Parts: sequence; structure tokens; C-alpha cells
Amino acid sequence: MIKDILQRVSADRIRHDLFYLCRDPLPFRKVNYTRPGQSMNSLAEADAFIRGQIEAAGYAVTTTTYRVQPFRCDRTKPLHHWYSTPAPSDPSFDATNLEATRRGCERPEEIIQLIAHKDSMSWIDSPGAHDNAVGTVANLELARVLATCDLRRSVRLLFCNEEHTPWTSRFAAEAAAARGDHIVAVLNVDSLDGKSEEDMAAGKMTHVVGYSTDEGRALAEFVAAGAARHKIGLDVRVIFKQHVNDDDGMFINAGFRTTVMNLGSWPYADSEYHLPGDVPERVNIANVVRSTQLLLAAILDIDANDTDNLWKRMS
Ligand SMILES: [Zn+2]
Repeated sequence: MIKDILQRVSADRIRHDLFYLCRDPLPFRKVNYTRPGQSMNSLAEADAFIRGQIEAAGYAVTTTTYRVQPFRCDRTKPLHHWYSTPAPSDPSFDATNLEATRRGCERPEEIIQLIAHKDSMSWIDSPGAHDNAVGTVANLELARVLATCDLRRSVRLLFCNEEHTPWTSRFAAEAAAARGDHIVAVLNVDSLDGKSEEDMAAGKMTHVVGYSTDEGRALAEFVAAGAARHKIGLDVRVIFKQHVNDDDGMFINAGFRTTVMNLGSWPYADSEYHLPGDVPERVNIANVVRSTQLLLAAILDIDANDTDNLWKRMS
């Protein structure tokens, strides 16, 4: 029963992982910050934590490492957009993609792809709680719960880096395209629960599903309809994202058009977006739990159906 499986999403684990990754012990997750007394940078430390959690859930983790640069900081730019392109001579660092797959028993070649960028802003000191420790911990929790389910299709998780340059989701998407992977749906999870001060104060439980393609629209409507289908108390909206960007955009550009982004508001309304004030104390854990349940329901419903008919019915 999907209803029972949704109850396995744990607020305690989500809160624990969130505070671990963006308060204590890790204040940030970036290549250019190393905690005093540590030999690895804070992004590598975050990777070690994430990897340990996924392995504890029974997965094998694949790592692929790329060279990235931190963005420079330009405070003359608009408030939420202080990042600027580094010079070629600026230092570069290793940054790793972590991938893990829950193999399906009936149609293992058909893949439901989950994405979350795990790094925090490289150009400032920000915990990056909403952007995107929440997506990271939501996907960690999905990995744990999915490990307890029988799935027909495979679910693959990608933990990548999008606050450094280049974005490492691009390489994962291009590698999937080069292999000819059959990805039936891509769910990017980035900045769940992030919303306006007003909506935060009012305790609103929000979830936005954004699409940039026709195929993505059908998927977005299917994901959103899960709130009513499974009585998940969320104010869900479907929106059109005109610009093909973020980690979902990297998969669309690589040819995987049945792709959506999951976030807390649109246009993104968090007043602390890309600022040092994006702290875990502002995260509404109950909203993250419900958004995680909505994603879990979508995965289980997609898995239970014939996707061709599913998308046709929605469009
Ligand atoms: Zn960001």
C-alpha cells in the first residue's frame, strides 16, 4: 500500500541530515572552505556523509570526479545574484558526482532519475539550507524508503554540484545520453519549502513542479495530482519554466525531455536566496516531509504504470 509507504518518510532523519549538512558539523559545502583541523574541504566532507548514508541504506555508490572552480563574488550585482565567472587562472578543485541505483526487478533498463545538487554557494559563506541541503536530504530519505520497496523499474539518484562552475549534472546527463540510457522521468529536487517570508510566517505548505517541455508538462501534472490522489496536505502548483537551466535543464539539453524541477515557490520567493541567511532554522521540516512524500508517491505511481499511457492520459 502506497499510503503505508508514505508514512515511512521520517521527519527526524530529515531534520538530522539537514542540520548535519548545513549547521553542525558542516557550516558550508564548498571546495573553497575547509574546516579548521580537517584535511578535506567541506564539500568532500559532505560527500563522505552522503555516501555513508546511502551505503547504510544498502546501495553501492559510484563516484565521478571533475575539476570545478568556485564562482567569484561581485556584490555590485543584484542582491541574489552575486556570483560571477572565475578567471581561467583562478584555482580549480576536484568535485564529485555521487550516483546510486535501486535496480528494478521487471524493467531494470527503464530508469526514474532523481537529482539534487548538494553543494552550497561557492562565492559566499552560506549554509545553503533551502538551496539545496533540503533537496539533498529529501533524496537521501527517498533512497532509504525506496530501498524497502519492490520496484519494477530502476531508480537512480544523482547528487551533483551546481553552485560551482561548471555544473557537474551536465556531465552525468551527457554520459547517460552517450550510453543510450532509457530514462522515463527526471525529477530534480532543488529548494523544496523555499518561499516568501509571508508564506513562511503563515505556515503555508507549498510545492511547485516546474516544466520546460511538453513531455515535462505531462509529468509535472502527474506529480502534482499526487497530492489529491494520496491526500498529502500541500498547496501544489504546476508552472512553466521558460529558461532551460538548473540541473533539470542539463538533462533536457542532453535529450531527456520528460523532466521537471521540484521547489517551494515560483518565481522563487525566498528572501534569503543565495545569501548567508539561508539557514536550516528557517526550514519548515513538515513541508519538506510532505514534499518528499509527494515525490515518493510520484515514483511509486510511475513505477506501477505503463508510462506511455500515463503521459498520454495526462496530456
Ligand atoms: Zn543556487
